[in-house]
Amino acid sequence: MSEPRVPLIAGNWKMNKTIGEAKDLAREVVGGGRPSGVQVMLAPPFTALSAVAEVVNNTDVVLAAQNMHWEDSGAFTGEISPVMLTDLGAKMVIVGHSERRHVFHETDEAINHKVQSALNHGLTPILCIGETLEERKADKVFGVIAAQLEGGLSGLDAERMARVIIAYEPVWAIGTGVNATPEQAQTVHQLIREQLSELFNKGLAMNTRILYGGSAKAANAAELMAQPDVDGLLVGGAALNAQEFLGIINFEHRGS
Ligand code: PEP
Repeated sequence: MSEPRVPLIAGNWKMNKTIGEAKDLAREVVGGGRPSGVQVMLAPPFTALSAVAEVVNNTDVVLAAQNMHWEDSGAFTGEISPVMLTDLGAKMVIVGHSERRHVFHETDEAINHKVQSALNHGLTPILCIGETLEERKADKVFGVIAAQLEGGLSGLDAERMARVIIAYEPVWAIGTGVNATPEQAQTVHQLIREQLSELFNKGLAMNTRILYGGSAKAANAAELMAQPDVDGLLVGGAALNAQEFLGIINFEHRGS
């Protein structure tokens, strides 16, 4: 039986916000009101996770990390483990963000370790995939998406896959102010669902939440969310401003 795909509006604060700023922003988001059918997630920097955890504690706003190492502990200077994240109250973790792939050279293999480890620790991984502008221009979108999905989800069975969220984030749309059109997003989201159906099964593909990310903002949230295969938004820049982010969360009230 098909379960409804609860819309998820996820804020990725990247390397922004001091502890005090993070608390203020989280308080404004938590207190700002949201439709009952929309799930909200905040991913502050590691340094502010504990402070934001206090703010979202006993609310339905979900705490997430932006990255993690796959090992539980050990000699990995500068890294943060899933054990540390769950200890802080994180429930989700962004994995394979394009900045991790392109700036820090994370491979599909490393990303797959993180997906597996997150699941082992009860964290919901949000696996980010997406093509560069060059790849889009060279007509390689489908190949890139398929390879990143296969690589990132390698070794998962359907039961474990049921706990994974996918985020389609075209690299050319991230932080550029140029979002994918709703039609472009829908085309790739549909492709991702078809690919998931092939890799796992149709029921699982239909139940998987697929978020769109890339210059999402209050002004374009409703039209993106109106697409049948867009189940939520992963928001960077626009998540740093409470009013803008609340406008996205309340996208239904802004749509025509
Ligand atoms: C992101 O970093 O995941 C993102 C989508 O950024 P932005 O919304 O700023 O494009």
